[in-house]
Amino acid sequence: MVVNNFLPSPAKSIRHKYMAKKKELTDEQLRFILGDDWQWFNDEILTNCFCTCEPRELRTIVDYKIALNKFNDVELTGKCNHCGGPIGRYVETGESEEYLKRIKKLDFK
Ligand SMILES: [Zn+2]
Repeated sequence: MVVNNFLPSPAKSIRHKYMAKKKELTDEQLRFILGDDWQWFNDEILTNCFCTCEPRELRTIVDYKIALNKFNDVELTGKCNHCGGPIGRYVETGESEEYLKRIKKLDFK
């Protein structure tokens, strides 16, 4: 059933490399990075996600996982609270000096 995957696909290995650079974050680690902005994150980020379901409204992301990518930006992947479909949210934490300072303090194991 996996016959077509016999030859390595370049796209796949690039994606793999990219994925490998992501670090999973816990809620506590994200809270540490955001500091005083934690409340803003809960009020403005989690509740303002795009989904393709109808009616077209901003949705809340639920059951999400948090990852830090190689640009030090936070990526959330979770589900839409309305239809349960997969949605994501991107937070440009790598753009902020404050966040970067705290990200560097995190001890990834
Ligand atoms: Zn939805």
